[in-house]
Amino acid sequence: MNIIFLGPPGAGKGTQAQRICDALSIPQISTGDMLRKAVKEGTPTGLKAKEYMDAGKLVPDEVLIELIRDRLSEEDCQKGYILDGFPRTVPQAEALEGIARIDAVVELNVPDDHLVNRLSGRRVCLNCGATYHVSLLQGRENCEKCGEKLIQRKDDAPETVLNRLKVYHDQTAPLIDFYQGKGLLQTFDGTKGMEEVYQSIMEALNKLS
Ligand code: AMP
Repeated sequence: MNIIFLGPPGAGKGTQAQRICDALSIPQISTGDMLRKAVKEGTPTGLKAKEYMDAGKLVPDEVLIELIRDRLSEEDCQKGYILDGFPRTVPQAEALEGIARIDAVVELNVPDDHLVNRLSGRRVCLNCGATYHVSLLQGRENCEKCGEKLIQRKDDAPETVLNRLKVYHDQTAPLIDFYQGKGLLQTFDGTKGMEEVYQSIMEALNKLS
């Protein structure tokens, strides 16, 4: 199954996508993680993307479309995947139609006031991508999964978070109507507990397969 996860930054897309990918044995394709890796490694894509990412802006469509086209042609994507963070604009969604057949779009709906708290308290592992909330870390500074030091992403700073939410509403939210019109959209309440959200998504996906 080829699935898109849609929702504002901090809605829990990454966490849910990771669990569902493990359950379905398909890869999680997070364009944010791919771009952060490219920035860390100083590749040409990373050099193009860094400035936009630090400011909480979207990286240009053509960079993302090429990145996704290459990634989806890899062997491990042939039995399905979850796209986490792509598409984020209508032109990206239109380009994706020429690259892949999408079976379902999972939208996580969370109001802005929850998101500001979640994002500004978020700590991430740059090595394995695991995310934590500072309120639950009890002073721990390392990743529970791989032991690497946790950091606050530059774009999780409070002023950048507000900009990312604005970008989401202006440029990504139109995809809700885009996919609803195609009969692919399934919306979930992302303010519910992690387990409950996971169970509801799995139930909906099981009905499709
Ligand atoms: P994320 O981890 O998904 O929040 O992505 C972090 C940052 O990477 C975003 O704020 C954008 O700057 C960039 N990015 C990730 N995915 C995309 C995309 N599909 N289109 C444009 N920029 C993206």
